[in-house]
Amino acid sequence: MGIINNSKTDPNKILPMRYMWARQHYKDGVSNNWTPEEISMQKDIEQWKDPAALTESERRLILWNLGFFSTAESLTANNIVLAVYNHVTNPEARQYLLRQAYEEAVHTDTFIYCCDSLGLNPDEIYTMYTTIPSIHEKDDFVVELTSSIFEPHFTTEGDENIRRFVRDLVGFYVIMEGVFFYAGFAMMLALKRQNKMIGVGEQFEYIMRDESLHLAFGCDLINTVIEETPSVWTTKFQSEIRDLISRSVELERKYAKDACPSGLLGINAEQFCDYVNYIADRRLERIGLKKLYNTENPFPWMSQSTDLNKEKNFFETRVTEYQVAGALEWD
Ligand code: FE
Ligand code: MN
Repeated sequence: MGIINNSKTDPNKILPMRYMWARQHYKDGVSNNWTPEEISMQKDIEQWKDPAALTESERRLILWNLGFFSTAESLTANNIVLAVYNHVTNPEARQYLLRQAYEEAVHTDTFIYCCDSLGLNPDEIYTMYTTIPSIHEKDDFVVELTSSIFEPHFTTEGDENIRRFVRDLVGFYVIMEGVFFYAGFAMMLALKRQNKMIGVGEQFEYIMRDESLHLAFGCDLINTVIEETPSVWTTKFQSEIRDLISRSVELERKYAKDACPSGLLGINAEQFCDYVNYIADRRLERIGLKKLYNTENPFPWMSQSTDLNKEKNFFETRVTEYQVAGALEWD
């Protein structure tokens, strides 16, 4: 009995548990519970309405990131519910997937809340995946990469199908949630550090905490599938996965440059690209592959700004404390 290919419909008993990491990620997710309405948007609304408070390029960058994330979150939610849950048959792993699905619903709710409070045009935000090429390319890349496991007769029987399934897991957990989210996180948190759109920034921080858990679960899941069927992890397949991740890095660097061509106060577009390289190396290592870039982290504050039990910052609207320390990694 492994993590996949058990009975799909038996009401499997969850005890005793085999994969304690899945249980731990579930508990960490629950300890991080939050909802967007807990965060005040008052200052953001004032800044958004004040023509002098934000530059044109800052406004554009905020809209782009809201536009990208609003569709990415629902693509991820669909993948969990319609594909991953169907094939990951172990009960404690499924328990985590239910928690993750809820968190994706919270993230989707966050973008509704942002659109509502800032008075944004939902048609503009929710169609950016078709109207903005570098958003479209990212979404397309993941959707194409993972389309075969949505076929109605797809099973995870046999090495070739397990490879397809691992490709899907890499596509959503490592590439979408682990690479494609991070230039946007860095931009929104950089704005927040300049006291711009701190409500939206704080929401992105909470999302980033959740996503780092999703990524951790995804990597544990990928590593477990490989451990249980080592014959799928051929040299050829490993280089295919490295190649996919390096193509995703190119798309993310392109997105970073398009969304933020002239940089943000004190940060140039190239630094966002370096950050993408840096986090991609960490993802590669996490699934047992060699680093590709060896780039230094240009934004050490990305992990500091989300440290657990952090002190209340004067400009922040609430103290963000978490019950579980040490279990989460941020960048
Ligand atoms: Fe999410
Ligand atoms: Mn997620």
